[in-house]
Amino acid sequence: MTAASLVVKDLHVEFSGFVAVDGVSFDAHLGEVRFLIGPNGAGKTTCIDAITGLSKAAGSARIGEQELLGRPVHKIVRLGVGRTFQTASVFDELSVLQNLDIAAGRHRPSVSLLRTRRGVDPAIAQALEETGLADEIATPAGILSHGQKQWLEIAMLLVQDARVLLLDEPVAGMSQDERTATGELLQRLAAKRIVLVVEHDMDFMRRFATRVTVLHQGRVLSQGSVADVQADGKVQEVYLGT
Ligand code: ADP
Repeated sequence: MTAASLVVKDLHVEFSGFVAVDGVSFDAHLGEVRFLIGPNGAGKTTCIDAITGLSKAAGSARIGEQELLGRPVHKIVRLGVGRTFQTASVFDELSVLQNLDIAAGRHRPSVSLLRTRRGVDPAIAQALEETGLADEIATPAGILSHGQKQWLEIAMLLVQDARVLLLDEPVAGMSQDERTATGELLQRLAAKRIVLVVEHDMDFMRRFATRVTVLHQGRVLSQGSVADVQADGKVQEVYLGT
């Protein structure tokens, strides 16, 4: 099933009285690469934590008719919400294919031992193709490049059939070529899935964002196209420094 949009309304998150997210609303639609940006401590990761059930939050976060807030993490995952973290969480000693087998819930990944693409689960084969990792199936994840590890994490979400991809700083530490490849990957993925990117990298945002929400001190400072937010004096003042 395809979800057409993620709609977040009036999100509030508090930690022992400290308001980290204060009435944030934004939406992300199929077909766009949506960015959430802002200086350190703005509340970006906390928003993603709330949507994925890791932080208790008030307000609303819906995919289609389904409310996510208040549900346990495993139910949110089952609704098709997938998330990556700043540090890729893959099993370094296992091959790319074995990592994907585990993500897909295959408890007896015997085909991985064949070190061949023959007989690979079609969903895994497609995820390998989409993320450009098809030639790396037998490579231990630990020796992948930084970019390839991030792509493996995305591939792991694809085999879990995630319809909403929430990506936390996916290009941090990547080479320029890897950034470009990642941006192009996100554009391809956005055709069929909702893609929301939390990012620090302004150059990457300018090149690949369709719409942007700028957070500052837990609130939405500005929202719109890349051109809109870049032209916004408030954003220039607190963040872009241009
Ligand atoms: P960003 O991702 O934009 O850098 P965060 O969402 O990580 O910002 O953090 C927003 C604010 O909430 C920061 O002031 C941070 O210190 C605070 N914060 C985040 N997580 C917690 C927590 N578990 N307990 C207390 N404060 C937190």
